[in-house]
Amino acid sequence: MQSYKEEKMAKIGINLTTGALQKEDIIIGIDLGTTNSLVAYVGEDKQAVVINDAGKGSLVPSVIHFSDNNVPEVGEEAKFYLINDSINTIFSVKRLLGRSYKDIESHQQYFSYKIIDDDSDSLVKIKIGNQFYSPIELSAIILQELKKRAEHSLKTPVKRAVITVPAYFNDAQRQATKDAGKLAGLEVLRIVNEPTAASLAYGIGLDQNETKTVVVYDFGGGTFDVSIMQIQNGIFEVLSTNGNTYLGGDDIDRLIIDYWINHNQLKNVDTTTFQKLRLKAEQAKKSLGCQNLYNEKIDDIYLAINRSTFENLITPLVEETLTCCKHALADAKISIECIDEVIMVGGSTKSPYIKKCVGDFFKKIVHDQINPDEVVALGAAIQADILAGNRTDVLLLDVTALSLGIETSGGLMDTIIPRNSKIPTKAGRQYTTAIDGQVNMKISVYQGERDLVSENRKLAEFDLKGIPAMPAGIPKIDINFLLNADGILNVHATELRSGVSQTIEVKPSFGLSDEQIEKMLLDSVSSAKDDIAKRMLIEARNEGEQLSYTAKRFIKRNVTLLTEKEIDKTNELIRDLEQIITQNDKDKILTAVDLLNEYTKPFAERVMDYAISTAMKGKKID
Ligand code: ADP
Ligand code: MG
Repeated sequence: MQSYKEEKMAKIGINLTTGALQKEDIIIGIDLGTTNSLVAYVGEDKQAVVINDAGKGSLVPSVIHFSDNNVPEVGEEAKFYLINDSINTIFSVKRLLGRSYKDIESHQQYFSYKIIDDDSDSLVKIKIGNQFYSPIELSAIILQELKKRAEHSLKTPVKRAVITVPAYFNDAQRQATKDAGKLAGLEVLRIVNEPTAASLAYGIGLDQNETKTVVVYDFGGGTFDVSIMQIQNGIFEVLSTNGNTYLGGDDIDRLIIDYWINHNQLKNVDTTTFQKLRLKAEQAKKSLGCQNLYNEKIDDIYLAINRSTFENLITPLVEETLTCCKHALADAKISIECIDEVIMVGGSTKSPYIKKCVGDFFKKIVHDQINPDEVVALGAAIQADILAGNRTDVLLLDVTALSLGIETSGGLMDTIIPRNSKIPTKAGRQYTTAIDGQVNMKISVYQGERDLVSENRKLAEFDLKGIPAMPAGIPKIDINFLLNADGILNVHATELRSGVSQTIEVKPSFGLSDEQIEKMLLDSVSSAKDDIAKRMLIEARNEGEQLSYTAKRFIKRNVTLLTEKEIDKTNELIRDLEQIITQNDKDKILTAVDLLNEYTKPFAERVMDYAISTAMKGKKID
């Protein structure tokens, strides 16, 4: 109750710099980038501006350094430790959001910090000192810093935000971004696609009557994305996306470094020299945008490069991005002539040569009037302003007031239709069974913003019966939510392998007053941190329980292939794990999971090899 009152009061505040009364909290727009993050807002003069707190610059490098006692430091200061304390310095965490180890396995060498590789199917974790961090927690640390800078600069508390993500982000990655916001103490009103935000910053899509096809070419520090969007009646539809998640400005720097190393015939370049070269290469790249020659030296090494050499060096890389554009056009089934606007996003598009190549390719003058570093954050701020109801020129479509989802293992709420979704809307997800031979699945539908279903409102419950008995994890159960324009929810569940299916209809808004909805929302904000902590504990427990289940099954099935010592030690580790699961310490559970996984890995592989070789025996090749 107390937090409810506080929230109510926070709605009127005084801006200490201007003395003006603010009727509503400011909603900030955040570009949570792989390399750099930014925060922006729309001021009283209706202009979107990027926050530059105390002259620290508007770009906050997305880098976190942990000191000995695991205290995090974010931004420019943390960047310094990339060289000196790389094992405790996290960069590019966005690449890990909502990802499993399997997803990033082939890029492991890219990361200098420790990524846990025990269970390749579950979400990645990072170990620093003796603590485990999920990418959600790490992103939350960056978001917290952005929130702090915004509050410091605006001199008022900030509680709500819009956060952008790449258009290709899947459901898990979007949910992870939202959770990171929650953990940072922000209510995330909406997750917006980066290309949509960039268009909004240019005012494209604000006019309900216009129809436009837009290309957003986003060349950042470590990634390249191109998106083709169709904007109609204020709705941004992504027609196609393409790109390379391991191609960016860093690769341009690398080409310059290699050029200097070759040119000066440098041998055995040590890390310190290499880092110095890296900084100079970035400087050279930037300065060649406005001058024809870069000429510097470090120690006694001459570092020179002229513009045409630079352009020749990067041509293959630029061509690669244009090939992605070609594929995106083909996927969207659109020819270059149909494109109305081309928008440049990302620091790397500041190179005039890249701009020219892109313009030539699309046969258009590209939009580069807004700083490509800032354009996404500015668009996020505009979206935030629209959601705050400050823009009368933009029509807001009907939206759902509360999230809708189902209960998953451990009593967790799995949101299927997030709050603020435009209706009518449709969304679905695939689930599976947790127990061997499970033939029924209880589907409980909930409404609300809390992480635990027990804190949300139950709308309906039904059993999907007659799933053929299969091992755990094999059935594929599709659950689809269809929320029609009248706010009626249809929940449809199908087991894809057998075709068993069932549907129910519920009325989510039935019996809830505006005050009750508001209270549910406010409670979710005030309990957000607590909720996430509880959820992480439950997720760790689920992981632990799943592992002890599979480890026991493994031992039982392969008794003859294992030594006595292996069996005894595994059983001991299983017992330890099961004991620790009953306690309330997420990190201890994950450590026990890690130990059991590490221990069983070598002989699990041996058993697997044996199984494969016996399966191959006796098979003839014709
Ligand atoms: P991300 O979206 O991946 O977080 P940014 O959009 O902030 O990244 O882009 C960062 C990249 O932009 C870096 O590789 C940086 O060197 C490059 N960059 C910044 N300014 C310039 C410039 N003037 N010319 C060329 N590249 C630039
Ligand atoms: Mg970016």
